[in-house]
Amino acid sequence: MYSEIVNTIKGLFPKQDFVPLHAPCFVGNEKKYLNECIDSTFVSSVGKFVDRFENEMAAYTGAKKAVVCVNGTNAIQMALMMVGVERGDEVLTQPLTFIATCNALSYCGAYPVFIDVDRDTLGLSPVKLEEWILEHAELRDETLYNKRTGRRIKACVPMHTFGHPVHLNKLVEVCRRYHLKLVEDAAESIGSFYHGQHTGTFGEVGVLSFNGNKTITTGGGGMLLFQDEELARLCKHISTQAKVPHPWEFVHDHIGYNYRMPNINAALGCAQLETLPAFLEKKRELAAIYKNYFDSVGMEFMSEPEGCRSNYWLNAIILKDKEERDSFLEYTNSHGVMTRPIWQLMNRLPMFEQAECGDLSNCTYLADRIVNIPSSVRL
Ligand SMILES: *Cc1c(COP(=O)(O)O)cnc(C)c1O
Repeated sequence: MYSEIVNTIKGLFPKQDFVPLHAPCFVGNEKKYLNECIDSTFVSSVGKFVDRFENEMAAYTGAKKAVVCVNGTNAIQMALMMVGVERGDEVLTQPLTFIATCNALSYCGAYPVFIDVDRDTLGLSPVKLEEWILEHAELRDETLYNKRTGRRIKACVPMHTFGHPVHLNKLVEVCRRYHLKLVEDAAESIGSFYHGQHTGTFGEVGVLSFNGNKTITTGGGGMLLFQDEELARLCKHISTQAKVPHPWEFVHDHIGYNYRMPNINAALGCAQLETLPAFLEKKRELAAIYKNYFDSVGMEFMSEPEGCRSNYWLNAIILKDKEERDSFLEYTNSHGVMTRPIWQLMNRLPMFEQAECGDLSNCTYLADRIVNIPSSVRL
C-alpha cells in the first residue's frame, strides 16, 4: 500500500532521488532583476524593487497598501503592534499553527489563548471562538476582558493553514461583535481566495511570508497588507527606524525597528510574483491529481473549503490514527519521499503549556493524523 503511494508520488516528480516537500522554483526574471540590483548598487534597504513589489502585491491582493519587511514572523509582530496589542494583553489564536504566530505575539508581551479549529478549514473556528468568549470573557466599555485573568483581550489571529481559508465572513462578524482586532496570519495563503477576495484583506491587517518554502519566495521576507493607508504609513515608518525625513539630520520620533526588506530580496519577489499565476495553476493541478488518487485508494485528502479557492501550498492527507501516521512517515521518508506531520500543538510546547485553552477536540484529532506530502510546483 505505502509502496504504491511512494511510486505514485515519485511518478509525479520524476528524475529526483529524494522528493522534497516544497522546493522553490525560479524560471522567470529572477536573475535579470538581481543583476539590475547589483549594477545599480541599490541592494539594501532602498531601491525601486521595494516600492514596485509593494505596489504590485497591493494590486494583486486588493489591499489598500502593502508594506514589506524582513520576514513573516516580524510582520506578525508589527501587525499586532499596529492594531494596539500591548504588554499584558491576550490574543485569541489557534494552537494548530507554525510557532511563528505565537512567537510574534510573545514579542509584544501578549499571551495566547488557544481556540479550536474547524475540521473543514484546519483554521480558527468562529463558532468555537464565540462559545469561548460567551463563557470566559466580558465586554466593558467596548473592550473585551478575560473574566478569570482580568486581562484585556485585544486581537484575534486566525491562520489559513496550508493555504485553506478559514470561515472569514463569520469570523469578521464575531470579531466585530466583541471589538477584537482581526489580524490574519496569511503567511501560507498567498493566492488563496475566500469568495473571490484575497486572504489577508479581511481584517485590519494581514500578513504574508516569502520564506524559501512558501509559494513564492524572496529568500526571506514578509509583508503586511493594510486596508487603512494611514496605519500602513505608520507601519513603514516604525519598521524603518522611525526616521523623520530630513536632508541630513538624524531625527527619530518613535522606538523604531530595522525590519526593512532589502531591495535585492524585493527584486526576487517581483520576479516571483510574475510567475505566481502559473505556479497556482500547477499547484491546483497537482492537488486535483492527489485528490483523485487518494479517493481511489480510500484515503482522506484535504480539499479546499466550500466557496474558497486555495493555493494548495502544502497538500495534506488525514490518516486513520497516530500509529498509521507514524508508519506512513517512517516508510515514505526512508523511501525517498519527504513527508512531515503537522506541527505539534502550541499548547503542548513548554513556552505555552500554561496558556488558557478552549475545547480543542478538533486540534487534538488533527494533530495526530495530518501529514504533508510533496507539493512543489511541477515544471
Ligand atoms: C511561514 C510562516 C510564518 C512566517 O514565517 P517567516 O519564516 O518568519 O517568514 C508565520 N506563520 C505561519 C503559519 C507560517 O507558516
